[in-house]
Amino acid sequence: MVTAHSAAASPDANNDADNQNLSQVFEVLLATVRQNRPTDDIRIIQQAYDFCLKHHAGQKRASGGPFALHPLEVALVLAEMKLDATAIAAGLLHDAVEDTPVTSREISETFGEQVAHIVDGVTKIEKIQFANREDRQAENVRKMLLAMVSDVRVVLIKLADRLHNMRTLEHLQPERQQAIARETLDIYAPLAHRLGMGKVRSELEDLAFRYVDPLGHDQIRSAVEANRQQGEQFLHEIDALLKERLLEHNITARVDWRIKRLYSIYQKLQRQRITVDQVYDLLAVRVITQTVQDCYAVFGLIHSIWRPVPGRIKDFIAMPRPNLYQSLHTTVMADGGHQFEVQIRTEEMHRVAEEGIAAHWKYKGGGSPVSAKDEQRLAWVRQIVEWQRDMTDPNEFLSTLKIDLYPEEVYTFTPKGKVVVLPKEATPIDFAYTIHTEVGNTCIGAKVNGRMVPLKTRLRNGDIVEILTQNGHTPSRDWLTFARSSRARNKIKHWLNEHQRERAIEIGRKLLDREARKYKIPIAQLSDADYLKVATDYGLSNSLDLLAGIGFGKFSGRQVLNRLVPGATNVQAPEADTTPGMSDAVKRVYFGKGSDSLTVEGQNDLLVYRARCCNPIRGEEIVGYVTRGKGVAVHARSCTNVQNLLYESDRRIVVEWARMAGKEDSSQRATYPVKIIVYCDDHAGMLREMTAVISDDGTNIRAVDTKASASAEAIVEFVVDACDVGHLIRLMNGLRRVPGVREVQRQQKL
Ligand code: MN
Repeated sequence: MVTAHSAAASPDANNDADNQNLSQVFEVLLATVRQNRPTDDIRIIQQAYDFCLKHHAGQKRASGGPFALHPLEVALVLAEMKLDATAIAAGLLHDAVEDTPVTSREISETFGEQVAHIVDGVTKIEKIQFANREDRQAENVRKMLLAMVSDVRVVLIKLADRLHNMRTLEHLQPERQQAIARETLDIYAPLAHRLGMGKVRSELEDLAFRYVDPLGHDQIRSAVEANRQQGEQFLHEIDALLKERLLEHNITARVDWRIKRLYSIYQKLQRQRITVDQVYDLLAVRVITQTVQDCYAVFGLIHSIWRPVPGRIKDFIAMPRPNLYQSLHTTVMADGGHQFEVQIRTEEMHRVAEEGIAAHWKYKGGGSPVSAKDEQRLAWVRQIVEWQRDMTDPNEFLSTLKIDLYPEEVYTFTPKGKVVVLPKEATPIDFAYTIHTEVGNTCIGAKVNGRMVPLKTRLRNGDIVEILTQNGHTPSRDWLTFARSSRARNKIKHWLNEHQRERAIEIGRKLLDREARKYKIPIAQLSDADYLKVATDYGLSNSLDLLAGIGFGKFSGRQVLNRLVPGATNVQAPEADTTPGMSDAVKRVYFGKGSDSLTVEGQNDLLVYRARCCNPIRGEEIVGYVTRGKGVAVHARSCTNVQNLLYESDRRIVVEWARMAGKEDSSQRATYPVKIIVYCDDHAGMLREMTAVISDDGTNIRAVDTKASASAEAIVEFVVDACDVGHLIRLMNGLRRVPGVREVQRQQKL
């Protein structure tokens, strides 16, 4: 509180207090470094501290304290992580380039390349380059990860920076608090988790939680407080009993116990959709042993004292998590129905679980990791960095990253017993791409535990997966609707992009050729340079892009021909023809062979897609419409848009469904999501009966949505996978026969 007295205090007095505070923290920093890294040369830290004081002089934080306190506290976090003097110096300088006139070059000249490189990695990109906040966030994260590949200290400093900002978040405006806390939960806490840094992750999560969902936070906190005394009493008894038994069995081990963290309870509530009084295992016990054998001995001992809860036993020692976390987990039931979770691990495993990549980070020359384990930890960052080259949209990058940061995983096996760790809800397609890109690209089916399954089947822990491939088979766009891992998604997208472009180039070449023949222009005589010149006119970098542009319908063959040979088409038009390109080359399209490919009579493949407004399915009458830039849209003839579109009759194409050769097995056929709306009585059991009709037919239900309406009527919307019109009619008739159903309709638009 500001009183008349303190407001009148001289600025000098304030400065004195600030300076004293700063030097106290700096003393603690030096003492911590001396203890954790006794052989490091601390002169660079002293030098960086002086530099930091000088350049941040006069700057204040939102808390009112001197700005220099922030880099100093960040450096202290790094020292507590046992990082080296270089990292600590970089921590002291981490905001110097961003928030003061100091340049990266000055840092390099004063502190050397390494420090400058790290500081550069943590410096945000200038704000003016971005259209919106999301793009900026995505680009900053991308930049940080790129820098982290060559020196992981970049991300450790970012995490320390975020940790201190979160610890002092109370001083900011509520909107800023929300945004920063959200970003912490979305990116930084998962990043810490991915790097195995359990301690940093926990603190970030718990700090962010109270700002992101203050109500939820308070609710859980008061529920925990209400149970605390009883819980602690209970844990005391467990602890005493366990220690006694360990002694009896001659096992040396440490026993820790605690009430679980608020955020981990919160996540559990979210996951299981239960209320806080339904969470039984708020209590957690941890046993830390000397050897791996003892872990298993303690495991057996615990199960001999308390009954294990089925399905809760996990052996992360035999199968470490992707972030290298190792531990045995079990949940047991004590007398009186109290459940509690037990984690058992060695001291070394414990250190790795708490500190992760920072646990045994050693440097050799340019800051590259020497331990094979650390290499493994960084492998995913390298992969993301590799993939992001294909991504032009920063938000796509960020969403890929988010998928990768939440490694809730399933453990599956190859037929030879090799473990394949996949993200939760992964499918055989993800499995196939994890084995090898080619296995993914040529995948035609999968067996799980010896049985053929659809490719969109969700894999479960312990599944043995065998992928069936066929040479020449290619990925389908449908796969993107159920592939979960970023690896599979990226590989599929990459293949589709490449392949679509190839097809577009081929089509473009044909269209241009046809146009040239029409006007009797010998384009075979044109040189690469001629094409390149026209490509440049269109702002393209090469002649293939030009042909692809024609193929995609961005510009017409005639326009391009006119540029290649000026005046070519105004000599004499052989026939009155104003078509924009594609439709005159294409008379008839056979659509729907495979999922999205098609054959054009007398021509090659063409880019064709089902119009979203009516989603035609096999067997429906369809018409094609040449769009600008996107290929041919296929509409149902009944689609209302078609009436409006088709007055440009020259853009119309005859389209027919391709014959399905040799695809008698219906499980192998392409299906289409179709929305069915049912109006029915609103009574119990209605939904169950309707669902049974659909699933007894062997049809997959993608989504169900129920709305009650007036007069005891309910409206139920199903999205089902239908192969063709016959299938759809069968389903609709089946639904009509359910007692209480009043009307069944198909809705064209999904
Ligand atoms: Mn900072």
